[in-house]
Amino acid sequence: MPEAKSLEQIKGFLIDLDGVLYTGNEPMPGARALISSLHGKKLPFLLLTNNSTLTPTQYVAKLRGLGIEVDEGKILTSAQAVALYLHEVTTPASEIYVIGEEGLYSALHKESFSLAKSDNKDVRFVVVGLDRQLTYQKLLDASLLIQRGATFIGCNPDKTLPLEDRLAPGNGAILAALEAATGVSPLIVGKPESIIFDLAISRLGTSKEETAMIGDRLETDIAGGRNAGLITILTLSHVTDQHELERSFIEPDFTFDSAEELHKALQRSYA
Ligand SMILES: [Mg+2]
Repeated sequence: MPEAKSLEQIKGFLIDLDGVLYTGNEPMPGARALISSLHGKKLPFLLLTNNSTLTPTQYVAKLRGLGIEVDEGKILTSAQAVALYLHEVTTPASEIYVIGEEGLYSALHKESFSLAKSDNKDVRFVVVGLDRQLTYQKLLDASLLIQRGATFIGCNPDKTLPLEDRLAPGNGAILAALEAATGVSPLIVGKPESIIFDLAISRLGTSKEETAMIGDRLETDIAGGRNAGLITILTLSHVTDQHELERSFIEPDFTFDSAEELHKALQRSYA
């Protein structure tokens, strides 16, 4: 039997954004208090999101608009994780074809990568993040490059994107189209895969046993956090409800109804 975990042993936090700190443009109850108490107690944390469409600057502005103050160094998106991963495995001279939005383009530019035109035969990587301007031509270009041998990389596998009252197609739906067309499965960098967790933990500087992943999705935040050897905390605030939790094989170490309940429990445990 693994040892029971306690909130007191947590020295650092990875925190999902959408569904934990806010939904849409509404802050979650307790989100501000949670972040300001981590600041106050000087506990290291990173805000870890699979969303590749926004830049860290845009996230800082969005959070500020919700009354949550963080600096850019506290944000790690799946787009940044892809750029950092490519920085580790190849040189900036490598040509990359991108399907995605500003967050992904900006992250790759920041690591000095040159982005390729579709007819460039030297393309070594096809990187795919959510693209709400997706066209058939982009799918065609990407699938031809993958068939020619370019490495197929996905920012995140999220099949859906929760909007206020419905589910829109997420990046996983775009990856599925390319996978169907090429027979090639993408290398996923975002949650639940290990690449983004390894990057996050090394930036945070805490050990895995003392680091908690807080999220609202069982199959990404909690499954990924468990695989990475982290303490996992589910908030039943958005995607996952009690009924789904009871039916799932994925078990978080701790479950709270909201960021507010988690904040109160942390206050008690650090008192
Ligand atoms: Mg979420």
